[in-house]
Amino acid sequence: MTTPLIDPFARPISYLRVSVTDRCDFRCVYCMAENMTFLPKKELLTLEELDRMCSTFIRLGVEKLRITGGEPLVRKGIMTFFQGMTRHLDAGRLRELTLTTNGSQLRRYAQDLADCGVRRVNISLDTLDDKKFADITRWGRLAQVLDGIDAAQHAGLRVKINAVALKGFNEDELFTMVEWCASRDMDLTFIEVMPMGDLGNEDRLDQYWPLSDLRARLAERFTLTDLAERSGGPARYVRLNESGQKIGFITPLTHNFCESCNRVRLTCTGELYMCLGQEDMADLRAPLRASADDAVLEDAIRRAIAHKPKGHDFDYSRQKVDGQMTRHMSHTGG
Ligand code: SAM
Ligand code: SF4
Repeated sequence: MTTPLIDPFARPISYLRVSVTDRCDFRCVYCMAENMTFLPKKELLTLEELDRMCSTFIRLGVEKLRITGGEPLVRKGIMTFFQGMTRHLDAGRLRELTLTTNGSQLRRYAQDLADCGVRRVNISLDTLDDKKFADITRWGRLAQVLDGIDAAQHAGLRVKINAVALKGFNEDELFTMVEWCASRDMDLTFIEVMPMGDLGNEDRLDQYWPLSDLRARLAERFTLTDLAERSGGPARYVRLNESGQKIGFITPLTHNFCESCNRVRLTCTGELYMCLGQEDMADLRAPLRASADDAVLEDAIRRAIAHKPKGHDFDYSRQKVDGQMTRHMSHTGG
């Protein structure tokens, strides 16, 4: 039997996030520059390579696979990849196949995803206002995303909305968003904005809205009960007693989840990042392309995991403009 992946701090690696493309049909201001240069296609893992890579991780004990990007649903032929992963779900090796999407293509793909065994989907949506939506995503249109959400729910997918908390942008929509999600039986998670990419650190800092503050505002209207539920990642959950609704908080800048971290991230070019907040990575594309023998890839994965750091160093208070993360979320995959 294959020995499962366990890092040097005895954390089993059971969760892989995979970015399948760096491209996107939106240009969210906190994520990409408008004139973003994308990678040449040959740099990307092919669909076959993505399948081989994910299948190897699954053989090594990964039970949950989250597909992301860029926008995963703009990758040409991506349904072939999802269909391929269905065999691991059917065999019981993979417990969950899911994705994070901006929702723009869900009208087209929601049913196919459900047919592939996807049960839940995270949809990113920061505002319910048409104009603000167009401003923050630059190229996105709210109606298309709302229609995508309808399609997802119609196909039986459980929807979780992810909203980046942005000071002076969606602060005033806190309760509107909470109530809207409750009315549609959708969970809602807020994400603290991160200093990613080269988009001008100052803007990001201006927009930084600590979730501790957001939480305090929620507590003015609702009674919050902390939930013990942990995903192994940077999310914490509360229950709103009055509505029964679950609200999540993702604070990637805090260190409070490192000890239980069960995840690694694969970029669309086959680089494996062991920690969200560190630049340390291992190239898995070279061993993948070097040999058709999966043992070579497996060995490279094991060597990479042996270097997973204990915790991360990713904090505004210690962030210098020239010391910020240089990679984009769209490359690493959120
Ligand atoms: N395109 C898909 C989407 O938007 O859901 C998947 C990829 S996107 C990079 C994944 C998540 O990262 C989204 O929820 C997005 O809001 C979030 N994100 C992007 N840039 C961010 C930043 N600088 N800080 C915090 N979250 C960010
Ligand atoms: Fe695209 Fe998602 Fe980044 Fe927005 S957050 S630009 S939708 S990848």
